Amino acid sequence: MTLLDRAIVRLLPAVPKPVVQLFSARYIAGPSLEDAVSVVIRLNAAGKMATIDVLGEEVEREDDARAIALAYQHVFDEIERDHLDSNVSVKLTALGLGLSYELCRANLEDVVRQAAEDHNFVRIDMEDSSTTDDTLRLYRELREAGHVNVGVVLQACLKRSLRDIDALADLRPNVRLCKGIYVEPASIAFTDANAIRANFVTCLETLLDARAYVGVATHDEWLIGEALRLLAERGLEPPDYEFQMLLGVRERRADELVAAGHRLRVYVPFGEQWYAYSLRRLQENPAMAGTIARATVGRVLGR
Ligand SMILES: Cc1cc2nc3c(=O)[nH]c(=O)nc-3n(C[C@H](O)[C@H](O)[C@H](O)COP(=O)(O)OP(=O)(O)OC[C@H]3O[C@@H](n4cnc5c(N)ncnc54)[C@H](O)[C@@H]3O)c2cc1C
Repeated sequence: MTLLDRAIVRLLPAVPKPVVQLFSARYIAGPSLEDAVSVVIRLNAAGKMATIDVLGEEVEREDDARAIALAYQHVFDEIERDHLDSNVSVKLTALGLGLSYELCRANLEDVVRQAAEDHNFVRIDMEDSSTTDDTLRLYRELREAGHVNVGVVLQACLKRSLRDIDALADLRPNVRLCKGIYVEPASIAFTDANAIRANFVTCLETLLDARAYVGVATHDEWLIGEALRLLAERGLEPPDYEFQMLLGVRERRADELVAAGHRLRVYVPFGEQWYAYSLRRLQENPAMAGTIARATVGRVLGR
C-alpha cells in the first residue's frame, strides 16, 4: 500500500455512506436473511461451507442485544430448512458485552443452546483488545459448562495470543486463527506485517501441536503456503482442519483450495448494520483506496 493509499484509508470514516455502501457490496450478502441464504446456497453448490454473521456491534440497549440473539434463531431455522452447510459467527458486543457481562453470557448461551438443538456450531468472533479477556473467559465458562459446539478466535497480531493458546490448551479448543483487524497499540501488538505473519505461523504450529481444531483464516498467499506445509508435515487431512475466507475476497483461490480437497468456509455477513463491517473490509483492500478517493471527489464535485 502506498503512503497516499494509507492516508486515504485513514480518512475512510469521512467518506459518504452511499459511497462506502457501493464499494463494500461485494463483502456483504445483503440486508436480509434471504440474501444470506441465497449466497450460502451458491457457496455450498461450489463445495464451500459458510458461517453466517448477523451484522451488528456495540448495541446500546438490552433489547437490541436480545434481538440479535433472536435473529440467530431465525438463521438456525433457515439453515435447517434449506439443509445449508453453515454455522454462525457472533460478536459479543452485539450480544451486549458492552452493557453487562452477565447479559452477554445469557444471550451467548442461548445462541449456543439453539445451535446445539440443531447440531450446529457457534464461532465467537474476536473484537478489539478491550474485549479479549472477557471473550476468552466466556469461551472457557461455556466449555466448562459442557457446551462443546462453540469456538473462539485468536489474533496473530496480539503478542498475548501464544500465551492464550497455552492457557486454552486443556480445552482442546476450536480456534479460528486470523491476523486481527483492529488497530492496537505497539505495546500489546505486532505492527510490522512480517512480525504478524511470523507470529501467525508460530501460533498455528502451537495450536496444531495442542491438537486444536483450527480454522486457518487468511487470504495471504504466503500464509496459506505455510499452513499447507505445517498441515502436511503433521499428516493432517480433512476433516482435521479448515481454511476460512471472507465473502468477496480471493474467491478464485478459495475455489482452488476446494478443488485440491481442502475444507473451506466463507464468512457471510448480512443485515442492515453494514457500515462498521464495510469500513473494516475497505480499509484492508489496498486497491480500493484510490477508487474510493476518486469516487468521493467526483460526488463532492457533483459529477
Ligand atoms: C473467515 C474470517 C474471519 C475473520 N474473523 C476475524 C475476527 O473474528 N476478528 C478479527 O480481528 N479479524 C477477523 N478476520 C480478519 C483478519 O484478522 C484479517 O484482518 C483479514 O483476514 C486480512 O488479513 P489476511 O490474512 O487475509 O492478509 P492480508 O495481507 O490483509 O491480505 C492478503 C491478500 O488478500 C486480499 N485481500 C485481503 N483483504 C481484502 C479485502 N478486504 N478486499 C480485497 N482483497 C483483500 C489482497 O489480495 C491481499 O493482498 C477474519 C478473517 C477471515 C478470513
